Amino acid sequence: MPGDKIGFIGIGNMGSPMAANLLRAGYQVMVYDSNPEQVKRFTADQQTSAAASLAQLGSAVDVVITMLPTGRDVRKVMLEQEQGALAENLKQGSLLIDMSSSDPIGTQQLGTALAERGIQFIDAPVSGGVPGAINASLAIMIGSNDQAATERARPILAAMGKRLFETGPLGSGYAMKALNNIVAGTGFIAIAEALIIGKTFGLEPTVMIDILNSSTGRSFNSEYTFVNHVLKQAYTSGFNLALLSKDVGIAADLATGLGLDAPVIDLASKRWQEAARGLGPGKDFTEGYAWWESVIKPKSGN
Ligand code: NAD
Repeated sequence: MPGDKIGFIGIGNMGSPMAANLLRAGYQVMVYDSNPEQVKRFTADQQTSAAASLAQLGSAVDVVITMLPTGRDVRKVMLEQEQGALAENLKQGSLLIDMSSSDPIGTQQLGTALAERGIQFIDAPVSGGVPGAINASLAIMIGSNDQAATERARPILAAMGKRLFETGPLGSGYAMKALNNIVAGTGFIAIAEALIIGKTFGLEPTVMIDILNSSTGRSFNSEYTFVNHVLKQAYTSGFNLALLSKDVGIAADLATGLGLDAPVIDLASKRWQEAARGLGPGKDFTEGYAWWESVIKPKSGN
């Protein structure tokens, strides 16, 4: 049985299959989630224990993995909830692997606060969506200031992902993840607008997607997302619109923070924020297409 005992916090759409893969690889995993329904669902399917509190989790494990909505949630769980009981109860030399798509700004502060408590910290956000989480084929981007911590994390990460990339210092994985999502998110908008223009002209959307997928316009979104979710109006990819809006916002803020003018990224981020506001909470990101279809209309006189 692999050595480190793992505490997995955040067993949502991604965390559940990722934690299940750790169990499959032989790790001892204790889970924690603030939503009791998620815990009930996970422990009904898997032979594992759930922590009743962060204090209990902290005193039982060697490695904590977080798969939470935002970096703010990671900070709360590590240092604030239950008066900071998680960090208080973890042993010296424990390791936090944050696999959420968190904000690179603020990471150094969290790293310093954890180092003062003797806790190692690396960021390891993922790409590949829910299918990648289920199949253990995620791409994992590791940011770390501590090579020993990276080596300790590698076998754990390898149980959840296919390709492990070392991107540079702590926070660099987060930056890369946000940049991946702005590229994918901008591409999604380009396909959506092209379909709406084509439909208005008289082209058939299924034929258009077929042609894009045999041509230079193809991408993950055209080959997978539009075929399986948008054209079927299924909107069930498992990636929430609010989470994508957060990610593209991180990428746009990164450009601004570095003093770089990136107008396409800035506009794409604004378009996703508008879609999130327009559609309201709890929507899958793929429903962004329906939003743009409802708001992009020919100007009067055309
Ligand atoms: P999710 O909302 O399905 O899961 C998040 C889980 O965290 C929920 O079960 C929630 O109850 C729990 N949680 C929230 N706050 C908590 C707290 N304070 N304490 C304990 N538990 C708490 O989200 P997800 O889709 O699994 O995404 C998780 C992270 O992974 C996000 O940062 C997201 O951007 C990123 N991500 C998602 C996908 C995807 O396709 N869904 C792909 C790659 C990366």
